[in-house]
Amino acid sequence: MSYIERVWEKVSQRNAGEVEFLQAVREVLDSLGPVMERNPKYEAAGILERIVEPERQIIFRVPWIDDKGKAQVNRGFRFEFNSALGPYKGGLRFHPSVNQSVLKFLGFEQVFKNSLTTLMMGGGKGGSDFDPKGKSDREVMLFCQSFMTELQRHIGHHTDVPAGDIGVGGRELGYMFGQYKRIRNEFTGVLTGKGITWGGSLMRPEATGYGAVYFAEEMLKTRNETFKGKICTVSGSGNVAQYTVEKINELGGKVVTLSDSGGTIYDREGITAEKLAWIMELKNVRRGRIKEYAGKFGAEYLEGERPWGIKCDCAFPSATQNEINGDDAKTLLDNGCYVVSEGANMPSSPEAVDLFVANRILYGPGKAANAGGVATSYLEMRQNSARVHWSREEVDHKLNAIMVKIHEAAAAAAEEYGQPGNYVMGANIAGFIKVADAMLDQGIV
Ligand code: NDP
Repeated sequence: MSYIERVWEKVSQRNAGEVEFLQAVREVLDSLGPVMERNPKYEAAGILERIVEPERQIIFRVPWIDDKGKAQVNRGFRFEFNSALGPYKGGLRFHPSVNQSVLKFLGFEQVFKNSLTTLMMGGGKGGSDFDPKGKSDREVMLFCQSFMTELQRHIGHHTDVPAGDIGVGGRELGYMFGQYKRIRNEFTGVLTGKGITWGGSLMRPEATGYGAVYFAEEMLKTRNETFKGKICTVSGSGNVAQYTVEKINELGGKVVTLSDSGGTIYDREGITAEKLAWIMELKNVRRGRIKEYAGKFGAEYLEGERPWGIKCDCAFPSATQNEINGDDAKTLLDNGCYVVSEGANMPSSPEAVDLFVANRILYGPGKAANAGGVATSYLEMRQNSARVHWSREEVDHKLNAIMVKIHEAAAAAAEEYGQPGNYVMGANIAGFIKVADAMLDQGIV
């Protein structure tokens, strides 16, 4: 049995039932066969056994009181996965579907993503099964304060620097930062995605969406194409989806869908800048449902559906994991879609990934395509350390340069290992080698 299969057997036994985590591990292991063959030193040092095991796992009770005066309890988590390249870095997710498996898959992916950015960041992820939807601002604040009362013991600007993710935006980060400062009596860059007036970076909100579009732009360049006139479908309607739409519009593409957990809106005329401004108010201020868009602008509403049945050139899954299954992928391909750039983490199921790779479309996996968010978080950390504030243009320029480099690194590794154009393999290998070599240097820890 090969080294990879032996590790797989152990990891699947030890983490039995953790479907999402095992899915993420399997995908990475599947890419690493040729790397292990060329580099027996990794097996000798047990790199794979160690890289699939989080360095530290923290699970805690989060008690809080709702508006009716009733005690509520949620579960809080932080998975500090790998610190070979720097302090743990990765978002916090608040969503009822959050559990150990989901956060471990996200933490595992984050290790390779952060490595790919070439910046000095380890990987981690955390969150809670708390659902901010339908809660008052006061309830969200009380929850965030309770969550941070425990989390603050484990994080710090040189140790572990969380950011936002699903369900954690500016409001939640603000409440958590306030509580951290109050308990620790220090004003440091312990979280990223902060408000602009209290340590945040310009362009952080835009970064993941813009980055996914920049990555797609780089993939298109390999075929001498641009976004001009391209029909694009985007899923989700949160932070990543909103800025994906904004950047596609700027580059001359047309976005015809957005969605939320209720369904999809299909606007044949395109979601223009004016319509997008309305959506941002709907989602970020009024916290309403995407269905309202259909009534307001006369678009179609596809109740309970995802956008993948709509004909497009480019698809940007920007909602959640496994939102494109094998059938969806087949429909996308049958309809002529040939660019998929993942704003979300692991949005394509293994069957979908296999179809995209086999059909040689321009497929940018999340690890590479959505790394712009964490890269800009690092830029926020750098500004905090130096106590400076860069302009929008400066941050955007750096973000674009990082996305170009990530694309180059993934493309080069795919080429070197005999699968040109396979960004899945390229991203996994390029991300892995840097972390693995740092782990070798640092001994068995
Ligand atoms: P938001 O909370 O801002 O938005 C999430 C969107 O996805 C909402 O429209 C939400 O709809 C929808 N969604 C979430 N879960 C589900 C589900 N189970 N089924 C259907 N729709 C769902 O999150 P973000 O935009 O920040 O994150 C979106 C994706 O991008 C996630 O996969 C995240 O991990 C990834 N990502 C985010 C980064 C960031 O910087 N924010 C960085 C890198 C990756 P509803 O409101 O109805 O739940």
